[in-house]
Amino acid sequence: MVIVLLGPPGAGKGTQCKRIVEKYKLVHLSSGDILRNHRTKETELGKKAAEYMDSGKLVPDQLIIEMMVGAIESAKGNCVLDGFPRTVVQAGELDKELSRKEKKIDAIVDLVIDDGILERRLTGRRSCPACNAIYHIDTLKPKAEGVCDKCGSKLVQRTDDKPQVVKQRLQTYHQQTAAVVGYYADNGRKILDIDAEKSVDEVAALITAKLDGLKAK
Ligand code: ADP
Ligand code: AMP
Repeated sequence: MVIVLLGPPGAGKGTQCKRIVEKYKLVHLSSGDILRNHRTKETELGKKAAEYMDSGKLVPDQLIIEMMVGAIESAKGNCVLDGFPRTVVQAGELDKELSRKEKKIDAIVDLVIDDGILERRLTGRRSCPACNAIYHIDTLKPKAEGVCDKCGSKLVQRTDDKPQVVKQRLQTYHQQTAAVVGYYADNGRKILDIDAEKSVDEVAALITAKLDGLKAK
């Protein structure tokens, strides 16, 4: 099963993916997390991606497509894609890759949310660099301040969650990524719109209801 989770930065993709993968026994493939792991390990890809990520721009399609095709293969095609595809070119290549493997996207979920809310979600986000758990200084605090509940590592603010870069990331989303929803709509694909302004639990319940509805058909 392949699920694609769309939505702007800060919409809650990572947060919701962690629940989806548990419930449906899928592998969470976050392109952002994979890139950050490359950067930590100082791989060639990590070095190439750094400048784009730190300025809120997209990493070139070719690098991302190669990386994600490999990740989907490792997950044996049972995955939730978070942060990929982010351009129409990536969406087209994903379709081609899946059809080569006689697979297809089973569900496309779009987290719909106003930009005004996203800035606070992103600048208040705190992340665990070790296990990728996600917190927020107002809404999803860890039990001990600055420490990951799950693995005890020190939480960090991602460099691209600073206000200047957040503005650029939202602009990048509107200029390059929002069109991915249009790509799927133009290709007659059903898009499950979710109101992502609600609480984490409410959003999770909405997603589950829609995915269970698809499975029941
Ligand atoms: P994305 O993966 O789409 O960039 P995240 O899942 O990392 O987004 O969420 C961004 C921030 O918003 C995090 O700090 C997270 O704790 C918080 N968050 C996620 N979903 C909600 C929600 N429904 N209500 C309030 N805060 C949320
Ligand atoms: P994220 O963790 O999803 O917010 O992604 C962090 C950053 O990684 C983005 O701002 C981009 O620079 C880069 N990135 C992640 N996914 C992609 C993608 N599919 N295409 C291009 N760049 C990406």
